[in-house]
Amino acid sequence: KTVVNRIAAGEVIIAPSNALKEMLENSIDAKSTAIEISIKDGGLKLLQITDDGSGINKDDLPLLCERFATSKLTKFEDLQSISTYGFRGEALASISHISHLSVVTKTSSDECAWKCYYLDGKLVPPPTGGSSEPRAVAGRDGTSIIVEDLFYNVPSRLRTLRSQSEEYARIVDVTSSYAIHTLNVGFSCKKQGTNKMDLVIRSGMSQKDRIRSIYGSGVANELMLVDVNTDLDIGLNKCHGYVTSCNYTNKKSIKPVFFINNRLVVCEPLKRAINQVYVTYLPKGHKPFMYLSLEIDPKNVDVNVHPTKREVRFLNEEEIIGRITSAIEEKLSSLDT
Ligand code: ADP
Ligand code: MG
Repeated sequence: KTVVNRIAAGEVIIAPSNALKEMLENSIDAKSTAIEISIKDGGLKLLQITDDGSGINKDDLPLLCERFATSKLTKFEDLQSISTYGFRGEALASISHISHLSVVTKTSSDECAWKCYYLDGKLVPPPTGGSSEPRAVAGRDGTSIIVEDLFYNVPSRLRTLRSQSEEYARIVDVTSSYAIHTLNVGFSCKKQGTNKMDLVIRSGMSQKDRIRSIYGSGVANELMLVDVNTDLDIGLNKCHGYVTSCNYTNKKSIKPVFFINNRLVVCEPLKRAINQVYVTYLPKGHKPFMYLSLEIDPKNVDVNVHPTKREVRFLNEEEIIGRITSAIEEKLSSLDT
C-alpha cells in the first residue's frame, strides 16, 4: 500500500514547483498576508514555506496528512468546487509519501506553536527520537511547512527533473505568478543560507507594481488593461488582466500567467489565440506579456485532464477565448490609430 501511495504521489507531485504550488494555495486559503519561501538545492533538499495565516488546530495535526483530510468542504456548495480544484485533501498527503515533512503551526488562540513530523500520511517521531505527538515550540501565528529530501524514495522521478537551478527558476516563476494575482499578500523567495531575495513583493503593492518588480519597467510601462464583459450564458463570470501593447517588443517571450478561479493554470489554446492577435501588431517572433484572471462557472471547468491539474479545459472554450481576443484586438487597434 505504501508503494502504491508513493507511486500515486509521484504522479501528482512531479517537480518541487508542483509541491510549492499546492503549499502556496494552502497558505493563501489560510488568509495569510505574508508568505516566505526558502529553498535549498532547487527544492530537493529543502522546500520551506512560512505564512502568517490562520494556523492549524493542534487537534487536526494527527490527521493533517491523511488522504482526503481537508478543512475546505464544509458547505454543500463547496462540493461543487471539487470540480474547480480537482482534488481535495491530497496535496499534503502526497507530499508526506515522497519526502520528510514537518510542520510548525500556531493559531491565534494557542499559547505556543506545535511542531510535528510526518511520513506516509502519519505522525512520526522526530529524527532525534522521542514521541510522535506534536511538541510545544516557540513560534509566531501561522504555519511553516518544511519539506525535506523530496523524491528521496522515487528515483524515477528524480531522473525526470531538470537541473537544480532550473527547478529553482520554476519555483520563483510559480511564486511570481501567485504574487501578481494575489493582491494584499506579500511574497518572498530565496535560497536558504543567502540573504539575497530572488523575489520580494510587499503586501501593499499594486498589481502593476508587482508586474514591474517581477518583469521590469519595459513590461510594466506598456501594460493595457483587459476587461471582458460578463456573459453568464457562456459561463464567463469575470475576466480581467493585463497584456502589453505593441510598443513592447522583446524576442524573449514571457510565460503567460493565467488564473482560472484563482488557480494557476496552463491553457495553450488561450495563449495561442492571443499570440495570433499580435501577429499583425508585433515584429515577427515577438510575443506579448499576458496575465489574465478568469472566473468561470465551476461546473464548466474540468481540471482532470492531467494529474498536475495545470492544463485546464472548460465549456464554451472557443466563445470565451473569442471574447478575450476581441477585447485585446479592440485595444490594440485603438492604440494603433
Ligand atoms: P486541501 O487544500 O485540498 O484541503 P491539502 O492536503 O492541501 O488539502 O491540505 C490539507 C489541509 O491542511 C487543509 O484543508 C488545511 O486545513 C490544512 N492546511 C494546509 N496548509 C495550511 C496552512 N498553510 N495554513 C493553515 N492550514 C493549512
Ligand atoms: Mg491544498
